[in-house]
Amino acid sequence: MKTIFDESSSVLKVLPKQTVQSFHGGRVARFVIREEIPEGVLCYHALLKIFLLLTKEEDAALTNADQTAPSFEFFVSRYFLVSENFDELKTIGEVRSVLQLLAPKKPLHRFTILPTTDCNARCFYCFEAGCKREDMSPETAKCTADFLLNVSGDSEIKIHWFGGEPLYRSEVIDLISERLTAAGKNFTSDLVTNGYLLRGAMIEKAVRDWHVASAQITLDGTEKVYNRRKAYIYKTGNPFETVLQNVTDAAKAGIRIDLRLNVDAKNKDDLVDLAGILKERLKGVPDVGVYARMLYGDYEDPAAYEAYYRVKEALEEAGIQRPSGIPRKLYLNRCMADTEEAVVILPDGSLCSCEHFSEIGPAWGSVGDRSAHRATVLQWSETYPKTEQCLECARMADCIRLRKCPVVHETCSLLEREQRTKEMREGMRSEYMRFKAQEAAGRETAQKA
Ligand code: SF4
Ligand code: SF4
Repeated sequence: MKTIFDESSSVLKVLPKQTVQSFHGGRVARFVIREEIPEGVLCYHALLKIFLLLTKEEDAALTNADQTAPSFEFFVSRYFLVSENFDELKTIGEVRSVLQLLAPKKPLHRFTILPTTDCNARCFYCFEAGCKREDMSPETAKCTADFLLNVSGDSEIKIHWFGGEPLYRSEVIDLISERLTAAGKNFTSDLVTNGYLLRGAMIEKAVRDWHVASAQITLDGTEKVYNRRKAYIYKTGNPFETVLQNVTDAAKAGIRIDLRLNVDAKNKDDLVDLAGILKERLKGVPDVGVYARMLYGDYEDPAAYEAYYRVKEALEEAGIQRPSGIPRKLYLNRCMADTEEAVVILPDGSLCSCEHFSEIGPAWGSVGDRSAHRATVLQWSETYPKTEQCLECARMADCIRLRKCPVVHETCSLLEREQRTKEMREGMRSEYMRFKAQEAAGRETAQKA
């Protein structure tokens, strides 16, 4: 048995002790996910976050609940083996509730800030389409910086610049960053941007003054398709080439770039071509990872999945896909909406819970007043109960479905569940490949020494 990563001791501490003396036969727990590989069987305990490589014999001992095997005591004490009537879903819910109560409370320190809802592109699918185009004023930017300083206590601030196109009103980012720096506050940030304006002096400023560590940039096609889908307001130039150059420059300046490919039925073939282009263009460029997403999140449509998997495969083949992973800690909340540590600040300074659906209430004040925060978070924290089908799903332990979230449905389609499980298995393989590479690098260093 090889340990790839070890358990989250906080989960084990809140589970009742299970011993071989109290264990009278049973089965493999459903939150244990096994994946055969040539070297043995990868085995991920999604509740305790233990990740192992078992030999075929050890795996057989696990699946047969073999009491004579040397690993039996370990499997029982770590809940790899459970009694026949063990209730996984109830246990996950109880563990999460206890850990939420015990988790050290951090002040509000993660801020999604929209310097503007305006943008220099006109994507047909933009969620801001039809919304009022509004910029943050210099006064609101100053109040926002003061709000950040007042509420974050000793915690380092993390800012997620969002929009609209945040770089379209970069002066707002300047103002807020300058004020935080003048106050001696530690902060880091990331950007969601179309990348068009991320060039030259803007890159330097992003690294030096805004402390930007990473940027997510969307690329929806090869030159013609991209330029048509983005429909930038500029009448000259070639936005596709501009953005690709900016990606390269920003990455070389030390910003980690995540290139997001939004897939739909119409652009899937073009994105396969794009994978080939990116393979060539990104050669030697550090830390750029590419990943695909289904544009409309249509989890019931087999054609949408087919398009998505086709693009994913092309990225894999091109060797440019950002490697996935598996969670090392049990998620205690879903997103910014159901935690007291995070908030979204709109251009007019008002506060809301979700960056994608700012209109979904309740409204809870502005950078000058956040009295209703806790009550709001509690409303957003209400979740749909798990169902029987969740017992067959590899995401069982980490899936949190907020009732108020408009992109979440009460139950999953079979296709969605299969996708979650497939991606978890991919994540296990990727983690193992990284582990192997580290092991090999360690051996090489030891040999040299
Ligand atoms: S859309 Fe849903 S998951 Fe995303 S931030 Fe909003 S509430 Fe959270
Ligand atoms: S992804 Fe769907 S099937 Fe899987 S645990 Fe969540 S709700 Fe259940």
